[in-house]
Amino acid sequence: MIEPSQRVQETKESYIRNILKVIQQPGMLSLAGGLPDASRFPKAILAQAAQHLADDPSIYQYGATEGYAPLRKWLIDSLALADDVMVTSGSQQALDLIARSYLNPGDQVLCEAPSYLGALQIFDLAQAKTLTVKSDSTGPDLDHLESMLSQNQIKLFYAVPDFQNPSSSCWTLEKRQGVALLCERFDVAFIEDAPYRELRYSGETLPSVSSLCKGQAFYMGSFSKIATPSMRVGFVMASQKLLEPLKKVKQASDLHSALPMQQMLLATITHPEFPAHLEQLKQHYCARRDVLVDALNRHLSDWIDFEVPEGGMFVWAKLKQHQAHDLAAKALDYQVAVVPGDEFWPSDASIDYQAIRLNFTALDDAQLEQAVERLAEVMSNS
Ligand code: PMP
Repeated sequence: MIEPSQRVQETKESYIRNILKVIQQPGMLSLAGGLPDASRFPKAILAQAAQHLADDPSIYQYGATEGYAPLRKWLIDSLALADDVMVTSGSQQALDLIARSYLNPGDQVLCEAPSYLGALQIFDLAQAKTLTVKSDSTGPDLDHLESMLSQNQIKLFYAVPDFQNPSSSCWTLEKRQGVALLCERFDVAFIEDAPYRELRYSGETLPSVSSLCKGQAFYMGSFSKIATPSMRVGFVMASQKLLEPLKKVKQASDLHSALPMQQMLLATITHPEFPAHLEQLKQHYCARRDVLVDALNRHLSDWIDFEVPEGGMFVWAKLKQHQAHDLAAKALDYQVAVVPGDEFWPSDASIDYQAIRLNFTALDDAQLEQAVERLAEVMSNS
């Protein structure tokens, strides 16, 4: 039998994918996933966008690796962050392309602790060494960042400054400016992953870190959380020079992303009713967040500490006495699923505290209340 490569063997599996079968059992209430509310996909807008697909035969032909030109132009004009953009199969592919373009085995990447699991997997597959910077709900600790950058040979700093997955932290303006300056000073490329940026429910939108970076920056955007994840259209924006190697890697990997999906996506986000859809979606998620927060305050305040997120899809609950993995395993017996926080630390980093990630976008109000009641039972019996 042939063996998988060493890098595949050394890559951490996704906890959520591993428990998917259990989560899908009838009666299970899952706070574990990160799925958008399926009842809120903009179906009428998508249907209209799909109607136009047949009009243009060129979208059935092979296309340019960097993506559908009208979508690229729209992105550059509306974000005005850099002179080039590449359309990718979800923002997930953008990060994979960056890692494969720039990382040699053993190269150092810096990320927040905790960090998005899908990013950690990509850095493992690239056989990079993933280091962490101390972070809290306001962003990275700038003194620690400075010492990490001065004491190591870090090439890339990956972060989710707006409503991070899993912690929902949103960087303050001071942290954004501080990180931009430090990256420039130490000649580190900043990778900004921004899939939740448009999902802000209260407070002021802050400038993206990439817009403050005078040095090298990649901005990765996604339509998965505001339109639909299944079309797999995302993008990475950066200078032409930085994107050049990504083109080579994408060419070798899938030639280009599906053109009909890119065209349909552009028709969706430029549809006159799309802004109203986004506004309603935010109100809906904000109400869901409030239901979860209220239930947590009533049922779990003896066992968890948390901050109310101003956006995104998750509440990050720090555990006062329980062990996250034990708790998550036991919760499955009570038909409620959560993700243990340990999963969001790189494999060889030391885990600072115990936490669980709770999603509030997939269950309805009554289910959220019931899920928290079940969690309270688990916690009081553990
Ligand atoms: N980055 C983060 C932080 C995410 O949470 C996700 C999706 N869960 C992604 C990237 C991937 O998004 P996309 O669907 O655009 O590939």
